[in-house]
Amino acid sequence: MDLIKKITAPNPSVFTGQGTNTYLIGNKDITLIDPGPNIQEHIDEIIKLGDGNIKRIVVTHTHTDHSPAALPISKILNVPMYGKLVDGDSTWEDETFSPDVVLKDLDKIKTEEYILEAIHTPGHASNHFCFLIKNLNCLITGDHIMDGSTVVIGPPDGNMDDYLNSLKRLLTLQIDFFAPGHGNFMHEPKKTIQSIIRHRLARESKTLRKLEDFGKNTINELVKYVYDDVPEQLHPIAKFSLEAHLIKLIGENKVKREEEFYKLN
Ligand SMILES: [Zn+2]
Repeated sequence: MDLIKKITAPNPSVFTGQGTNTYLIGNKDITLIDPGPNIQEHIDEIIKLGDGNIKRIVVTHTHTDHSPAALPISKILNVPMYGKLVDGDSTWEDETFSPDVVLKDLDKIKTEEYILEAIHTPGHASNHFCFLIKNLNCLITGDHIMDGSTVVIGPPDGNMDDYLNSLKRLLTLQIDFFAPGHGNFMHEPKKTIQSIIRHRLARESKTLRKLEDFGKNTINELVKYVYDDVPEQLHPIAKFSLEAHLIKLIGENKVKREEEFYKLN
């Protein structure tokens, strides 16, 4: 039988694509990864598919589309929750999640069927983990890497520098395919990572070019030009990632901020 089962939660949106993917790893000793939003029909489906064999619940991070079903399922099945809380402020935070087991980088869950290794990948969220299923060389990517769109990096918890470093770290691992938090399995991991890094750095160069053109500008204006290839209704979301780029550039002394204006340093 397949070691990986996927169920997509019925929460489609611009943020979540077709919905959040929930994964059940194993058959006799199941690790449930990202139970998703607290939606009864989704919870029922997870419990049915688990068939009494779900032993623990693990979350990649604690955004509201990934972890809120953890608490109700943990109560129903009497199984522990694994994950990590964010340190500071975070947008889109699920306040109901509280881990029984706090995950650390390289923690392993070992069963007779598989070994799952936690890889701390801050960037999209400071408490974000990917999970490597060692026997399959499959990486559960959560929101670190999505199929079909780039992920949002929302400061202050989201951090662009961390995001790029976490991507580069994945290049050092043996991975054959990704099982993302949104969308379908992705079979060219190295290419995908390299193209995400290129895309982010191109966005950063474009930000610098636009600041050079304008002299100085606010983020509300800047987003229209830096993301002119993205539909305007997505600009409020793009603004989060633009802010993350600007914070990174300020950290590198390439940009400075004066009240609401950004300019080249
Ligand atoms: Zn997220």
